[in-house]
Amino acid sequence: MTSARYVVVGAGLMGAATAWQLAGRGEEVVLVERDVPAGPRGSSHGSARIFRYAYADPFYAELVVRSEPWWARLERGAGRRLIDRVGGVDHGRGREPERLARVLEAAGVAHELLGPARARSRWPQLTVETSVLYQPGAGVLDARAAAEAMVELAVAAGAQLRTAWPVRGIARTGAGFTVSGPGGETLDAGHVVVAAGGHLPDLIGELPLPAAFLAGLPRLRVRQESAFHFPYRDPDRPWPTTIREDGGLPVYSLPGGRDAGFRGQKVAEYHGGRPLRSAAAQDGVVDPAHRARVVAHVRAHLPGLVPEPYAETTCLFTSTPDEEFVLDSAGGITVVSPCSGHGGKFAPLLGAMAADLATGATEATGAAGVPARFRPGTAARRRRG
Ligand SMILES: Cc1cc2nc3c(=O)[nH]c(=O)nc-3n(C[C@H](O)[C@H](O)[C@H](O)COP(=O)(O)OP(=O)(O)OC[C@H]3O[C@@H](n4cnc5c(N)ncnc54)[C@H](O)[C@@H]3O)c2cc1C
Repeated sequence: MTSARYVVVGAGLMGAATAWQLAGRGEEVVLVERDVPAGPRGSSHGSARIFRYAYADPFYAELVVRSEPWWARLERGAGRRLIDRVGGVDHGRGREPERLARVLEAAGVAHELLGPARARSRWPQLTVETSVLYQPGAGVLDARAAAEAMVELAVAAGAQLRTAWPVRGIARTGAGFTVSGPGGETLDAGHVVVAAGGHLPDLIGELPLPAAFLAGLPRLRVRQESAFHFPYRDPDRPWPTTIREDGGLPVYSLPGGRDAGFRGQKVAEYHGGRPLRSAAAQDGVVDPAHRARVVAHVRAHLPGLVPEPYAETTCLFTSTPDEEFVLDSAGGITVVSPCSGHGGKFAPLLGAMAADLATGATEATGAAGVPARFRPGTAARRRRG
């Protein structure tokens, strides 16, 4: 049996970030993963996530700004670029570009608000009917490379990594926990961080957490999302990331990078996928009706792409009802669930916050602490006295 002060469950972006932060602070960490870091059955695989500042809620725009120095630190440590700043375009009535511009203005984030005619001449590969918010600092985040880099840095700082190590149970034993894995193996831990992505709905009820804390956590819903890669008509034209929202579900697109052989744009509906009970129910099968909707969108709104996908993938969204994150701790267990389809861009900062929660330090968060809105379990415990 191995013992460690901290066992982190899950090596997606969030578990990797937490392990990196803990190990970097000199803590003893074992990071366990049922598959491989940022594996194909989680939420962190692949080479493309949108890194953007444009949020209608100023809290999240400011959180992106706060995450910047953590990305810079990670890129320095990894010795490679993880965010490709291709710029970001937000448009459509539902996206409210003017409102986004006001939020970015207040947050001190570089941006431009363009009328539709100017936007059309700048990005002829898009159909544009409304004003456009452009963020030059937005871009494409290489999710798998970022997760792998954080795991490597954690291991370099002394963390142990166990792959193909599905956690079967977490039991309280004395002052700590026994974490059970495959083949009867166990780990002793002083504190457990659970960053299990879409598996969290199955695990959460089994965790030895206080009842009031558990009752306060929002319901986590898992969806199997699909994304499609479409070839560029003009391979030499640079593409930004895009989000268009016009009545129906928002549709986003971004240069697909490595996954797309660098020759196409990844396009997907936001929250358009099939609800699952948990990650255990995923089948990786793309719904043909979903594909047809995205192809129709490309035909109508992305004229710079050939409307025939040459590759496709599925991925898991694990969302709270209000798309907020969960980053909370009680009785020696920290629960980390920042997905809701938009958590990737904050990963190193959230890892630092999770490490703060686990250690009781304030290194990442300073006097402000982890935002109260990420801590529904703690709020519920307080309410119940
Ligand atoms: C299609 C898609 C598009 C997205 N687009 C964006 C975007 O544009 N911008 C953005 O900022 N964010 C985006 N996101 C969100 C971002 O990718 C997530 O916030 C992030 O990947 C969540 O990481 P995670 O570590 O919480 O989960 P995961 O990556 O799923 O990691 C959880 C890990 O835990 C492991 N695990 C589970 N149970 C156990 C167990 N019992 N024992 C051991 N290991 C276990 C799993 O195998 C997995 O590796 C997107 C997500 C998806 C799916």
